[in-house]
Amino acid sequence: MRYAKPFEDLIEEFRKFPTIGPKSAQRMAFTLLRKPNDQIEKFIRVISDAKYHLKNCKFCFNLSAEEICPICDNSQREHNQICVVESVKDLIAIENTSEYHGLYHVLGGVISPLDGLGAEDLNIQELILRINAMDLDDLEIILALGLSTEGEATMLYLKRLLEAQAKNIKITRLAHGLPVGADLDYTDQTTLSKALEARVLVS
Ligand SMILES: [Zn+2]
Repeated sequence: MRYAKPFEDLIEEFRKFPTIGPKSAQRMAFTLLRKPNDQIEKFIRVISDAKYHLKNCKFCFNLSAEEICPICDNSQREHNQICVVESVKDLIAIENTSEYHGLYHVLGGVISPLDGLGAEDLNIQELILRINAMDLDDLEIILALGLSTEGEATMLYLKRLLEAQAKNIKITRLAHGLPVGADLDYTDQTTLSKALEARVLVS
């Protein structure tokens, strides 16, 4: 016995989300159906607005409703520090520590040959162009990627690339103490704060 086709279709769409199994998808579909029409319309509008109004900041690739995100646009922040992160989720995790007041650069992943992700698939070239366009002689690049094998390999790749630039760049990374293999956004705020504060020069 199956549900009516439109309901099966609704369940199927929810199942496409990460970690959502058949039972959860079914529950979500029932919840949605029970909502009054005006709430459903609002939900559709919110999804559509998020999809069409959000873009990546033209400098740092943060998610933004404007061409330049509020972080890059904030003159109060330290514009001579760029923290390189894997994802917008990691950027938010670092922002939530309130420990860091510089800028960011979101790579959009780490180099991972097994997943078919090479350096050219990430925002690495954009980082180099951005750095070279900056008129600063005291630039610090903080490599804040996760401590997976791929994260470590990507940091090593970035270090070599940054050292090859005709600029005096201080390259640092988060201090030890982060759980190996864990994503930054799963790391508790105190640990992340301490790792940022005690960041070390990349040797
Ligand atoms: Zn930005």
